[in-house]
Amino acid sequence: MSRIPFYLHNLGDEEIESITRALRGEILTTGDIVKEFESAMAAYLRQQHFLGMSSCTAALHISLKSLGIGEGDEVITTPMTFIATATAIIEAGAKPVFVDVEADTGNIDADKIAAAVTDRTKAIVPVHLYGLMCDMKKIRAIADRFQLGIVEDSAHCVEGERDGVKPGQLADTACFSFYATKNLTCGEGGGLVTNNNELMKILRPMHLHGMTKTAADRQKEGYKHWDMVDFGWKCNMSNLQAALLLPQVRKIEQTLSRREQIAQCYIAGLQGIKGVQIPHLPKNTRHARHLFPIWVDATKRDYVVNELQKRNIGVVVNYRAIHLLSYFKNKYGFREGTFVNAENIGNRTLSLPFYNEMSEDSVVLVCDAIRRILK
Ligand SMILES: *Cc1c(COP(=O)(O)O)cnc(C)c1O
Repeated sequence: MSRIPFYLHNLGDEEIESITRALRGEILTTGDIVKEFESAMAAYLRQQHFLGMSSCTAALHISLKSLGIGEGDEVITTPMTFIATATAIIEAGAKPVFVDVEADTGNIDADKIAAAVTDRTKAIVPVHLYGLMCDMKKIRAIADRFQLGIVEDSAHCVEGERDGVKPGQLADTACFSFYATKNLTCGEGGGLVTNNNELMKILRPMHLHGMTKTAADRQKEGYKHWDMVDFGWKCNMSNLQAALLLPQVRKIEQTLSRREQIAQCYIAGLQGIKGVQIPHLPKNTRHARHLFPIWVDATKRDYVVNELQKRNIGVVVNYRAIHLLSYFKNKYGFREGTFVNAENIGNRTLSLPFYNEMSEDSVVLVCDAIRRILK
């Protein structure tokens, strides 16, 4: 049987042409191509500002710093996510406070957030798991009630929308990843969107050492003295990264509709296989289709993963609930049974091969394999 990988990027001629243009230019680091990418993303997300960065982790980190979050503060988030959501909070100096997720979607349960708020709580970091947006209207209402910031971990969700709301529109910032397997990719990269002009005045210098001028400015205006106004980090995006991303932004709707077709093909193909559950899609929601997970019986999950791998079908687990990983367990004393919905999903989930160029035949093959394995 031929190999079906878990993920394949589909960067091609347009991206090669675009990166060639960047290489022929003078500025390899942050410059006009980054600016062009930032404008395209801000327009796509219908917000004022986009800031290209080196990773989503860095975007989460400096978003929290820009809100003044640090030592002694608490930030509410979900245990059903990639570890970077929580490590960015720790990196900012704060303590991640987990709230359990909805059993049928895996997203943070907005109805449980209020109970986790203390005097020290400063912000909420919701994660749009798999590409399904959280209920941002509900989360916005809670943030208003307790005067909290909102930083969305939108690593899975560029194209998503819920109740007419896009990532970032009801938050201080939404953070994106352009890591190797994400919907938009340049190997490693990230960024954030915001509608807040004042916040952007803090974020822009903060993402580049706190400097008031860039290398591209120097190239344009000649050398002028620059200042360091505030403490900053080093997580800017380069022209090379932006050059790879720009053509992908132009065809983002086409690629999403292709992934939606593949998802529908999976949904049809998995129908009637006993013991396979697909996460619920709430109404008024446009799914960004980053991952295609299925949930099986916890006692069979590892068996299914191994059997698929034996058949040369790529699978991964997104994610085992992170509060039970050794670091968090040791640091905060978490035990099993604390966040039961997240733990259940973490014990039952596996992500199937899913990428733009995946053929319908491959989807059918994967579904047949699962049917046979679970029989
Ligand atoms: C990929 C990912 C991140 C980290 O993104 P980087 O760009 O690699 O820093 C954060 N959160 C979630 C949910 C992710 O999937």
